[in-house]
Amino acid sequence: MLRFDNVTRTYGSRVAVDHLTLSLERGELFALLGHNGAGKTTTIKMLVGLLKPSSGTIYVGPYDVTHNPREVSRLVGYVPDLPFLYDKLSGREFLRFVADMYGMPEAAAKEAVDREAERFQLKDFQDQLTESYSHGMRQRTVFAAAMIHQPDVLVVDEPMVGLDPHSIRLVKDLLKSYSQSGKIVLMSTHTLTVAEEIADRVGVMKSGKIVFEGKVEELRSSIPDAGQSLESLYLALMGEGEPSE
Ligand code: ATP
Repeated sequence: MLRFDNVTRTYGSRVAVDHLTLSLERGELFALLGHNGAGKTTTIKMLVGLLKPSSGTIYVGPYDVTHNPREVSRLVGYVPDLPFLYDKLSGREFLRFVADMYGMPEAAAKEAVDREAERFQLKDFQDQLTESYSHGMRQRTVFAAAMIHQPDVLVVDEPMVGLDPHSIRLVKDLLKSYSQSGKIVLMSTHTLTVAEEIADRVGVMKSGKIVFEGKVEELRSSIPDAGQSLESLYLALMGEGEPSE
């Protein structure tokens, strides 16, 4: 359903993503992990069409992201790490604007706005201007916007940053149930406990390459001495395991 086929992206002489090959199937929640600068955001931006690969191809269903951007945008929803809202619109107006951009007919747009406002518990403040929203309210509104067209692939860059425990629970439950409903969720995160809790598979990036791809249990059995938590496994994989006493 979603496939990176030998994808490379360079910025000048710097290689940000290096011959990435990765396939994701329906019903799967995949967490992309890696240090700052590993290439996660570049990978995500290529998938959502904000950056072009220097070489290689990304397919969403039958469509090539570079050559069929319109078709791909109907299948993909994106929550960026630095979300943008129009301050002078209310939450409801913003969601309606997004629905209109997808060309949804009147009745479907109205229904979608109500559905997402309900799902993200936005109803109490959806008629206030978004400039008055807290970080959590803004983030939930951006999630609602990304899901307004029920995308087959939901792409989320650092979903938990700055959220309170209530919003974290809401977002975790949402990502899990959305993937279980037969969609693909691809998220990048530094929050390893969240990845361990909800991801079906993880991909660990280092210097633009995937150095591990699979289930956390598989990572555990591939480095048996590294401990149980994803954090200790991740650090061992990066060559930064606990120093011995
Ligand atoms: P973080 O966890 O900090 O968000 P990341 O894994 O998302 O990091 P990227 O933002 O994809 O990493 O960056 C990958 C590499 O590409 C880094 O070396 C970064 O410095 C470089 N890079 C990213 N954007 C640009 C740019 N616009 N111009 C030049 N180099 C860039």
